[in-house]
Order: sequence, then structure tokens, then C-alpha cells
Amino acid sequence: MAASEQVAIVGGGIGGLTAALALIRHGIDVTVYEQAPELRELGAGVQISANGTRVLYALGLGPEIERVGVIVAGKEIRLWSTGQTWKLFDLGAVSVERYGFPYMMLHRGDLHAVLLNAIRDAKPDAIRLNHKCVGVTQDAKTVTAEFETGERASAAILIGADGVQSRIRAELFGADRPEFTGIVAWRGLIPRAQVPAGIKLDVGTNWVGPGGHVVHYPVRGGELLNFVGLLERDDWRVESWTVQGSKDEFANDFRGWHADVEACIRSVEVPYKWALFARPPMPTWTKGRVTLLGDACHAMLPMLAQGAVMAIEDGYLLARCLAEYRVGHEALRRYQAARRERANRAVAGSAENARRFHNPDLADAKGAQAYIDREWQEERVKQRYEWLFTYDATAAPI
Ligand SMILES: Cc1cc2nc3c(=O)[nH]c(=O)nc-3n(C[C@H](O)[C@H](O)[C@H](O)COP(=O)(O)OP(=O)(O)OC[C@H]3O[C@@H](n4cnc5c(N)ncnc54)[C@H](O)[C@@H]3O)c2cc1C
Repeated sequence: MAASEQVAIVGGGIGGLTAALALIRHGIDVTVYEQAPELRELGAGVQISANGTRVLYALGLGPEIERVGVIVAGKEIRLWSTGQTWKLFDLGAVSVERYGFPYMMLHRGDLHAVLLNAIRDAKPDAIRLNHKCVGVTQDAKTVTAEFETGERASAAILIGADGVQSRIRAELFGADRPEFTGIVAWRGLIPRAQVPAGIKLDVGTNWVGPGGHVVHYPVRGGELLNFVGLLERDDWRVESWTVQGSKDEFANDFRGWHADVEACIRSVEVPYKWALFARPPMPTWTKGRVTLLGDACHAMLPMLAQGAVMAIEDGYLLARCLAEYRVGHEALRRYQAARRERANRAVAGSAENARRFHNPDLADAKGAQAYIDREWQEERVKQRYEWLFTYDATAAPI
């Protein structure tokens, strides 16, 4: 039987749930269709910079994310071989002073749960699980999603928030052509008691080396260290966040790195690995009554830590457009016009950081010092990040 909602969202990830909550807060009826049988996020961390936390506070989630997140003092760069340390930027009080909101490290599951609880408080039946969307049709008045179960749901507008392998994007625009970047990423969590003594728990750290980099930061109130290692490697091309690898293989990829990195790898509970693919920018995200948000329309490499933040910004700004310009075509046009250039700039910035983090000049300490002086000098860092952190999705022109 066809249900008729004002807005249907396909995908209950961070982007889809942010959009749903923002729509509810703007008084618009919404239903989220999620393929999974239960809502659970990956066991991994996510960094949410001030431009993302600004939105979460506007949604009334400040106290909840403060309860589960970690506000680190700053970010540091360390050299892969010697462990030499340079300050990248101050966060903590500085982020609040400068941008009005904190830079937070969160466990993805914790952030997801905060969004989910707020949605369920406001509309207990807003999320339908076990609804894998397999097709979309539209006419002058409605759009209809078809699910694997044979059920259908109609709405005035449909939002594809179904991630990097988006079915909705494929329905609208055909298959995409992702390109393997030559980089494989490892991730895992380390319980606080197993974190090697040389690792600081009050900062986020980027280890940089020729052909690879490592990122770690605390999550879940400091109970866990999120650990990610990226390496140029050509022999693994599976784009999945749920494939497990072995600790030996992980250790082998970072053999010769500083003892703290090697010790972290030995302490990772379960290592997962995935291949990083890049996608060219899309000329449009919208067709008729259907639009896309988050990774579905601008998946990016993780080197700028902005993929989830961009999905959060998209969700809030799209809800504002639908509230301001009514639930229809004009709102979708305004949304895309306001968001596309910024999201694509973040895609390009992430790819640039991949080259920056893996530069051959980092091979030895002398080359590294010159490189750090050049690339991570305060003004240059500001240029790369200021435009991201100062943006306000709750007030940007629409
Ligand atoms: C290692 C790593 C580290 C990262 N670190 C950061 C970071 O620090 N900061 C940051 O901002 N970003 C980070 N990102 C990026 C961020 O994780 C993504 O950009 C973000 O999760 C995108 O959210 P989304 O809601 O668009 O998609 P997703 O999180 O992928 O959610 C999509 C949802 O849609 C559902 N779905 C898919 N297909 C269907 C279908 N056909 N029918 C119904 N439901 C469907 C899925 O089950 C899922 O629940 C990182 C990414 C990686 C890989």
C-alpha cells in the first residue's frame, strides 16, 4: 500500500538522520527508509569541526554530544620515522573562541545514537528499517520509492542520503565511474588501557610519511583511541567499510614506522581495511522531485575530515530551503545552488591533502623540516581550513 509523506529520505546514516531531524524541527513531516535491519553505525571515529557542531547545537543536541564526545586541545603532526612533533592548530577553547563552537571527536555510533534518539523523541515512527530502496519513479505530483520487499512509498520530495554507493544516484543519473586512488586505508579502535605510553590522548595526531599517513584521536569520552592508517598500495581494490584484515598485514604495511605506531597497530581490537576511490564532481544533484545529499553526491577522501560534516551541513540547509520555499522544485534548486560549489571544494581539498600528507620530502628529517615549514606554516593552514570552519549552514544565504 502506498504511504504518502511530505518528504521521504532513503538512508539513515549521519546525513539522512541530520536532514530528518532538521525537517522535524522546521515542522515538515518526514519518513526515513533504511535498508539495515537495525540502526547501528560502524565502530569508528568521526571528527566534527565547528561548522558541523554549529548545526548539531542548532538542532538542540549540544548537551548530548558533549556527553559522548571529546574536545581535544589541538592537532599535531608527527614524523613517521622519528616521531618529531609539530603543532598543526589549537582547537579546544580556541575553536569556540574563533568559530563559536567546539571541534569534537566522536564515536560514529554515539553521534548516530544521539541523532536517532532525538528523532524518535519527536516522531517515534519516523524511521522504517528493512527498507532497501530498489527503484524510484516520479510524475508531476509525487515521487514513489520502491523497496525490495515490494512495498512502495510516495512523497512530495525524495532525498537520496544513501551513501557512496547510492542507488538513488544510479536511478537518477546512471552508474558512476569511481577511480581507485592507489590508497588503502586501515582502521581500528584501541581501548584506553592498551594505548602505548608515547601517544597523547588530549590531542588529535597526524603522522605523515612518504606514501602514507596515520591519524589517531580519542573518542567516547576518552575510553577509546580511534586509529586510521592510510598507505599507497595497489593490490587491494574493495570499497567496503566492513571487510576485516589481519593485524599482521596491517603491521606489515607500516613496518619501519615509529615504535608508537607499530605498538598501536598491535593493540587495535579488530582491523578493517578498505580501498579509497575518487569520484568526479557531479554537474547536478537533482532531478525533478528527487535530490541527493552527503556521500551520495559528493563522496570525498577522508584527508580533510569533512565528509560527514558536509552531509550534516547539507541536511540542515536542505531543511531550511524546504521550509522557506515550500516542499517543491524551487527549494531543491536553492539547495543545490547553495551547496554544490562548497561541497566540491571540499572534495578537491581532500584530494590535495592526500598528496600533502604523503609527500616524498617527508622521507628524512631534514627534508621533512623544510616541508613542514613550507606547507604547515600558520597562514597556509589558515587558508586551507578557515573557509570550512567559519561556514554557517544555519544562516547561509539560500
Ligand atoms: C575512514 C573514514 C574516516 C572518516 N572520517 C571522517 C571525519 O573525521 N569527519 C568527517 O566529517 N567525515 C569523515 N569521513 C566521511 C564520512 O564518514 C562520510 O562522509 C559520511 O558517513 C557520509 O554520510 P552519509 O549519511 O552521506 O552516508 P552513509 O554514512 O554512508 O549512510 C548511508 C546510509 O544509507 C543506507 N542505504 C544505502 N543504500 C540504501 C538503499 N538502497 N536503501 C535504503 N538505505 C540505504 C546505508 O545503510 C546507510 O545507513 C570518514 C570516512 C572514512 C571512510
